[in-house]
Amino acid sequence: MKSPAYSQFFEAVPVRDHIMQILGQGGELCYLIEGTERAVLIDGLVGAGSLKNYVREMTDLPVTLILTHGHLDHTGAAWEYGSCYIHPDDIALLYSPRHCSVKSRFEFARMEGPLCTHQADSLCEADIIPPVPVMTYPLYDGDLIDLGGLTLEAVGVPGHTFGTLVFLDCRDRILFSGDACNINTLLGMPGCAPIETYLDSLHHLKTFEAEYDVMYGGHGRNTVDKSIVDDAIAMCERILAGTDDAEPAVSMDGTPVFYGSAHLPNYMPACGGLANIQYSKDNLLSSQTKKYMPEDTPVIPGSKK
Ligand SMILES: [Zn+2]
Repeated sequence: MKSPAYSQFFEAVPVRDHIMQILGQGGELCYLIEGTERAVLIDGLVGAGSLKNYVREMTDLPVTLILTHGHLDHTGAAWEYGSCYIHPDDIALLYSPRHCSVKSRFEFARMEGPLCTHQADSLCEADIIPPVPVMTYPLYDGDLIDLGGLTLEAVGVPGHTFGTLVFLDCRDRILFSGDACNINTLLGMPGCAPIETYLDSLHHLKTFEAEYDVMYGGHGRNTVDKSIVDDAIAMCERILAGTDDAEPAVSMDGTPVFYGSAHLPNYMPACGGLANIQYSKDNLLSSQTKKYMPEDTPVIPGSKK
């Protein structure tokens, strides 16, 4: 892959000679992967600056955008490419004003936080790519994406969203995990699946553990050891049994939530292990939870409605 050009919006670091990790304005990450025939971009950052142009400098191959989920900090390039592959359960999220409006994405891009490296003062609202109607191609658990000499497998991990997918690269023994399982897995917001569903998803993900060594996620530039999946399974079991720390907090959407473990100052869970889970006490059991969406209605950009 060619070296990235300088950009005020993005930074890129090679993970392998054919895999680039790209950092956006709010500390969010995406990954460009080249095969011999084509390339994929796993996730599209928040849409501040032209990621499509930035990626074009690095590869001459045709690029397909595939999304781990429908949140605003992963879908920004969809508004530039005009098409993306996404699990159908996340299309409503993609178009919800919370996740596509210029206003909410501008706020995200300017957010201060330990993972952010941007110069917020120099960013202006005109830098945010406006939403447009997008061709959404369906992607499901078990689907294979052939890049030529390298095949990615989509693995469904409903939890952080109902349509969350992670992408397994068996050749490089990497799992591109989006926001599916990390040190601060958010399951307490509108649009998240119940803990019981997430536990089932983690058991499904665990069946692939012999095929990868490390995970690269959507936030936090370092690799995460795959033992985090076992830690997250144990935490879900404690949450469902009511024996977790249940530390009170407030979600990014302002709703009351709890953490399965208290935090240490460096964000590590005080209970040990690598996983921590933010959850809502009214979204624990699959049988009791109706599908839980953001309050605002999805609107196709440019539609008259
Ligand atoms: Zn997310």
